[in-house]
Amino acid sequence: MTRPRKTKIVHGAPIPASRAIFKPAGIPLNVVPVNNITFEEYEAMRLVDWRSKSQFEAATMMGVSQPSISRLLTTGRQKVMDALVMGKAIRISGGDFRLAFRGFGCLSCDHKWEIGESDSLAPEKCPKCESNDIYSLKKEV
Ligand SMILES: [Zn+2]
Repeated sequence: MTRPRKTKIVHGAPIPASRAIFKPAGIPLNVVPVNNITFEEYEAMRLVDWRSKSQFEAATMMGVSQPSISRLLTTGRQKVMDALVMGKAIRISGGDFRLAFRGFGCLSCDHKWEIGESDSLAPEKCPKCESNDIYSLKKEV
């Protein structure tokens, strides 16, 4: 029997999500293999590898166990290094998570809005002017 997956809390994410693609310079995206990193893997690496949090601190922040953080770090780091060594692209998308922040702003028209509690995905564009120059109103932790 598989364990039920626990929704992880993500405190920092690339906004808009469509910008979360990184690739080797000079190679079109349609010919380069892409490693997909989930938002949970991104968040685990962001907290532990970039913010220098302990795995225990990251687990508390994301609302999961320390072994879960350890698994996310293992798979996330593997994908990042595979992309760097093998010259692949990295896309951050998908996963089972909800954002810790709800508020967003638009650089084009200065509109500010909140997403609902049930909306787990980061918005792609401003609901008012459709620009994708948007940002999170909350500073990342
Ligand atoms: Zn706008």
